[in-house]
Amino acid sequence: MDDLKYGTRNKRGDWAPKDPIEIAPFWQWPLKARKILAWIPSYIWPWNALHMAITLAYWYLVIPDAEVLKTLSWGWALWLYAVNASAIFVIYGSVELFYYTNRKQGNRFKYNAKFPSENPGDVFWFKSQNIDNFMRSFFLSIPLWTVVEVIFLHAFAAGYVPWLTWADNPVYLAALCFVAPAIHEVHFFVVHRLIHTPLLYKWIHSVHHNSVNPSPWSSLSMHPVEGFLYHAVALWHLVIPSNPIVALFQLHVAGFGAINGHIGFEKLEVADDKAINSEAYAHYLHHKYFEVNYGGEGLIPLDRWFGTWHDGSKAGDAQMQARFEKKKARLNAKTTS
Ligand SMILES: [Zn+2]
Ligand SMILES: [Zn+2]
Repeated sequence: MDDLKYGTRNKRGDWAPKDPIEIAPFWQWPLKARKILAWIPSYIWPWNALHMAITLAYWYLVIPDAEVLKTLSWGWALWLYAVNASAIFVIYGSVELFYYTNRKQGNRFKYNAKFPSENPGDVFWFKSQNIDNFMRSFFLSIPLWTVVEVIFLHAFAAGYVPWLTWADNPVYLAALCFVAPAIHEVHFFVVHRLIHTPLLYKWIHSVHHNSVNPSPWSSLSMHPVEGFLYHAVALWHLVIPSNPIVALFQLHVAGFGAINGHIGFEKLEVADDKAINSEAYAHYLHHKYFEVNYGGEGLIPLDRWFGTWHDGSKAGDAQMQARFEKKKARLNAKTTS
């Protein structure tokens, strides 16, 4: 595909999309019914549909019966860890293999012209972003993801919280699935904004930001505190009346969905004239500039409301620079007074 039809490439070879990132159409005024209707399929397909398909496969093939979940045991907890780790290995690993190792698409649609393996860095374990990101994912974040999973499955099965059934609450539970990605965005924004405060940033979140040029393995490369809080979004389903399938979907939107922000390519070409949108640009800009886009791609545009939105356009850039200037002036005033 000709990526220059969709964007521009600078002297360094970095590609950027031509069009600014748009927040979800129901936040755009005046409301346009046709735009909202056209947006719904893109909301479901392909990413949320994939998360739901994985969730159903888990429910029917992987998650033990409620009778088993009633009793905490290492057996089923380790089984869940093994499946989670294998699934991430296959899904993240195939994007990594095709687009980063074999570079089947070269630099087309790639935001940063460089590949992480070309930049050894002292901040990483074994001086390799790939090894560091990989080990943090598999030995810290995925175990913590599994801890969250064990907590809510056990809580539902042991009857600590109500287990709404699909037979009695089909509309409510379907609606809850539909808003789960929005819950994720709000939860992620709040946690993420919090760990960007100076102390917590230094202690916790800087680990994730070591990957200035993220790749799929960067997605879950986190400090353990962040690794737990990030996946803990599923625990909201112990607070709101819910069902373990919906909680599992919520968990998967976080765990499997983390790759979206870190793909590094605007589109993944799957055939000569077909490509999947990665929805990676907002979070790519976050890795590049740190203090913009704490949330997602504008499903719930908290960044827009709090003044930290960068839509990738020149205007977005100017706004960010103006904010940085203001901050600098404030800091200078503080140190001189
Ligand atoms: Zn990130
Ligand atoms: Zn961050």
